[in-house]
Amino acid sequence: MLPLVYHPIYSDLELPPEHRYPITKYRRLYQFLCEQLQIAQRQDIRLYEPEPITVAEIKQLHCPDYIDALFGNQLPAAKMRRIGFPWSQQLITRTQLSSGGTRLAIEKAMQHGLCIHLSGGYHHAHRDFGSGFCLINDLALAARHALTLEGIDRVMIVDCDVHHGDGTATLLADDPQIITFSVHGEKNFPARKPSSTLDLALPSHTNSDDYLTAFGSLLKLAIAQYQPDLVIYDAGVDIHRDDELGYLDVCQAGIYQRDLLVLGQCFDESIPVAAVIGGGYRHDHQQLVSLHAQLVYAAMNVLGIPVTPTL
Ligand SMILES: [Zn+2]
Repeated sequence: MLPLVYHPIYSDLELPPEHRYPITKYRRLYQFLCEQLQIAQRQDIRLYEPEPITVAEIKQLHCPDYIDALFGNQLPAAKMRRIGFPWSQQLITRTQLSSGGTRLAIEKAMQHGLCIHLSGGYHHAHRDFGSGFCLINDLALAARHALTLEGIDRVMIVDCDVHHGDGTATLLADDPQIITFSVHGEKNFPARKPSSTLDLALPSHTNSDDYLTAFGSLLKLAIAQYQPDLVIYDAGVDIHRDDELGYLDVCQAGIYQRDLLVLGQCFDESIPVAAVIGGGYRHDHQQLVSLHAQLVYAAMNVLGIPVTPTL
């Protein structure tokens, strides 16, 4: 059985026209999956709705003063600009639910071996500031929560979004139980890339074959060396050649192969995986749907659930 985590609030945020963030992609992806896979009528895929992560939990990782200012709409304008969203209560509620979704995904992954969160991947959130559309770091929060669960002594975050996981790297730099592994474009945002446990910086225009060769061999080594009890996988699709914020040259089939590589390798080694959809940027949000849907199709493939129709 493949659990999916989703909440309607993910796309329920009013943004100025022409805002860069593809806010409708979550609802579009959810609707596409419901229609294509007839999720309501089947037993082998199940949907779960998350609870919001609490302020107390967030403050165990993030600076309490930052969280108080952020949640009370007291952040200086420059700090809100760095985040990239106008402040609203909707934004705060959505953020808490998205982070709750990634946390729920790790719990479901521990029960079922694999779980996909149809949001998540807010890896540019640092301890005391947010940036790049990220307010709080759902990946780091979920990884810390995972360590409180029975049977988890080591977590690996495999971040394949085209942008470096800078917030995750700094938040977890002193935590030997959490391995951070970022695969990203070397010329992509953020300019300053603090060290993760493992970093693979790829030159602009890296194509599918070169991406899969470089990433595949390092992933294999990383899993063999660290033997994590849980993998949190950021399956950002902004590595696609047509992405409006990414500089790599990976095709749609290459992204599917990447997803299969991560999910398949973990499944073969009996390592539970909680995956989040991560980044992907187009003015036409609908173009992102089939790219993100591939993650669900790859998971079905790995679990042996027949996939019809295919993408
Ligand atoms: Zn990204």
